[in-house]
Amino acid sequence: MADDVLPPGEDEAFRARCRAFLDEHATGISLGGRGDPRGESRLRAAQRFQKALADEGLAGLTYPVTYGGAGMTKAHERAWRDTYSAYPNMTYDLLISHGMCLPMMAEYGTHAQKSAYLARIISAEDVWCQMFSEPGAGSDVASLQTRAERDGDEWIINGQKVWTTLAHLCAYGIIIARTDPDVPKHAGISMFIVPMDADGVEVRPIHQIDGGTHFNEVFFTDVRIGAGSLIGDLNNGWRMATAMLMYERVAIGSGTTGGITTDRTDRLIREARKRGLSHDPALRQKLMRLRTLETCLSLVAMRTRAELRAGRTPGPGGSIGKLATVEIADLHTEVSMAIAGASGVAWEDEADAFWQRQALTSLQAGIAGGTTEIQRNIIGDRVLGLPRDIGVDRGVPYKDLTVGTQTS
Ligand SMILES: Cc1cc2nc3c(=O)[nH]c(=O)nc-3n(C[C@H](O)[C@H](O)[C@H](O)COP(=O)(O)OP(=O)(O)OC[C@H]3O[C@@H](n4cnc5c(N)ncnc54)[C@H](O)[C@@H]3O)c2cc1C
Repeated sequence: MADDVLPPGEDEAFRARCRAFLDEHATGISLGGRGDPRGESRLRAAQRFQKALADEGLAGLTYPVTYGGAGMTKAHERAWRDTYSAYPNMTYDLLISHGMCLPMMAEYGTHAQKSAYLARIISAEDVWCQMFSEPGAGSDVASLQTRAERDGDEWIINGQKVWTTLAHLCAYGIIIARTDPDVPKHAGISMFIVPMDADGVEVRPIHQIDGGTHFNEVFFTDVRIGAGSLIGDLNNGWRMATAMLMYERVAIGSGTTGGITTDRTDRLIREARKRGLSHDPALRQKLMRLRTLETCLSLVAMRTRAELRAGRTPGPGGSIGKLATVEIADLHTEVSMAIAGASGVAWEDEADAFWQRQALTSLQAGIAGGTTEIQRNIIGDRVLGLPRDIGVDRGVPYKDLTVGTQTS
């Protein structure tokens, strides 16, 4: 028997336990709207769900009990995901905290760091954010200018991050900062843990086209953090960042549930039926294409999950799932606006505002977690073995580059 499958009796009993929990708690999360521009009520609902899961002993299934996990097997994890896939996704807003920060801390954190932080991340009592992008360093994040300088037993951080999702609601963030400007740009970066309530951290909202303000600018002015906040080795932050970005692509491309899910198409089919459009042949064809793409994405996600269960760190293949989410988002927008018609542009019923908000929000799919062009570059270079981009700054000390506001 494969090591990710439980013996039949045990499997059914465990799935029944999961279903009992989900029947009670997975009641759906409102997608938020005008009353929730900063996404707080959505995040709080996700936290409540996750805390209840932890109290039930079902959170962080494969993480050790000593670090707040359930200490179960990969087979339990698989059974949980299969079961969860039939219920509404309650934990989408924990994607960064659980899909990226948690596995990073578990893989690269010291025993002291894991003891201090993992249990509260698993139960979502603390939510974590990712602070990589800067105004002059997005796709080329290794050009970042935020710096961390050692002062006795502390690091002092100065600089600015941008597009930091949910920073205003997070307890901690994982940041990458420049620790050695005298070496080439990838070689002088380190990764740290920053408490978001530390003196000198200022979070400012960014207003989005869809009316939300979920992400932020974050400014750091002489922020002092302890020497024990370093994740991994000094100046090894690029390797850490790459690992975290791989987790990000897997989290975006694989979602939080397992199995085949076609939620988005199903919702559109219901809407088309409600509006008497379900017999339109052109629409039916597009809906089938969307359903096919969603099914393919689920299968890619299941393969990625199987690789993770087999103990492999996610590789560049995660970019394939990420790219599929972009294609799905684009087609979903096209089909949903065709169904909504004029009410997707000017609505009388407030419920119809949802369609336009979703269409506007969909634009982020090809940018967040690395743009479509960057995913294609990664697949070309690291999956297909095509020649790499010319690296004009390879081997040049960071301090001699003209990047961001560093002009000489
Ligand atoms: C919804 C959302 C949430 C986000 N959340 C976070 C977060 O929590 N934390 C965080 O750190 N960041 C976050 N980001 C930022 C995101 O990672 C960056 O926006 C992204 O990496 C692109 O960087 P940029 O915006 O600076 O664009 P740029 O890098 O300036 O890119 C501009 C354009 O140039 C293209 N381009 C750039 N380089 C190349 C190249 N080598 N080859 C081909 N084309 C290229 C890009 O594809 C793009 O079309 C978020 C972004 C969004 C949209």
